[in-house]
Amino acid sequence: MEIRDILGNIRDDHVIYADCGPCRRSFRLDVAVLVERFGPDYPTLDALRKVVCKECGRRLTTMRAYDSKMQVGPPR
Ligand SMILES: [Zn+2]
Repeated sequence: MEIRDILGNIRDDHVIYADCGPCRRSFRLDVAVLVERFGPDYPTLDALRKVVCKECGRRLTTMRAYDSKMQVGPPR
């Protein structure tokens, strides 16, 4: 089965970091906030493209990772 890359499919152990080059800030994005803003069916990549820096309003460079401290189960 195809796994769609939508906000509702982001797992709890999945964290998203965002960096702003111009002002050298790093943010950790809250997936719950993204879901609230765009809805669970919204494509993750499109949502990340719309995230901008709170300080300068530029588009952030985002990076996705898994939280290694959390237990990761087999894919469902
Ligand atoms: Zn910035």
